[in-house]
Amino acid sequence: MNKEFNTVGFGHPCFNPDATLYHGRVHLPVAPKCNIKCKYCDRKTGCVNENRPGVTTKIMDPYEAILYAKKMLKKEPRISVIGIAGPGDPLYNDETFLTFKLISLEFKDMIKCLSTNGLLLSDKLPLLINCGVSTITVTINAIDPNIGKEIYDYAIYKDNTYKGINAAKLLIEKQLEGIEAACDNGLLVKVNTVLIPGINDKHIDDIAKKIKELGVAIMNIMPLIPQAEFSHLKAPKCNELEKVRLQNSKIISQMYHCRQCRADAAGLLGDDI
Ligand code: SF4
Ligand code: SF4
Repeated sequence: MNKEFNTVGFGHPCFNPDATLYHGRVHLPVAPKCNIKCKYCDRKTGCVNENRPGVTTKIMDPYEAILYAKKMLKKEPRISVIGIAGPGDPLYNDETFLTFKLISLEFKDMIKCLSTNGLLLSDKLPLLINCGVSTITVTINAIDPNIGKEIYDYAIYKDNTYKGINAAKLLIEKQLEGIEAACDNGLLVKVNTVLIPGINDKHIDDIAKKIKELGVAIMNIMPLIPQAEFSHLKAPKCNELEKVRLQNSKIISQMYHCRQCRADAAGLLGDDI
């Protein structure tokens, strides 16, 4: 059981701030589709001038993605992590699993990483373990469905579409189930939580306590980027974000150095190539 930070985390710049000087990451944008709709999501392909999650210059097929990884590694040999972070949900795209298999063949020593909304995590966990994925990030913005229903429009699961509170209930149940199973199977798990003022800002400590209990290694509270259906909301101010992080650091380790990266980001954090 992996309830604590393990050696993989030391070489992963998102899990260990001290690793940011020596270790970078490359994201392979092979996963365009998503099975939920977060109200702050605005995915874009063909985008070169924005630095945020959900954007990429292009969607790559798995073989093209491997060539991209090789090219990036040549430019920045300090890359130690190959991850799939969208622009949709990696677990909802079969290309993700072929890409990880190819990564295992081509880059034996790389840490394989994935970020997900968690809806399919428990279902796909055996496949992820089989592909050698050792670190995952799950985005959890609520553990109370009454708050979740304000954040998610719908969730698609096994060909059924759930809306409103039913979508939030299902998503939260699957996220927590998936995280517990991932931790129990020795994966290193980070939780990202988008701080959405007026919606989940009074609920962050409930999330922190729950994920700590499940064995999550680190929490990354990220500021809302006001866009899409949440474009009318305000992003939290730096001091508000810092306050929430500090409060929750008493419950679970916090990440303070997230760069809210693109789905095709490559290089050291903060020094993309
Ligand atoms: Fe967008 Fe990610 Fe939410 Fe899917 S899970 S809607 S890709 S932000
Ligand atoms: Fe790491 Fe944050 Fe970038 Fe994800 S978005 S790769 S957690 S720095």
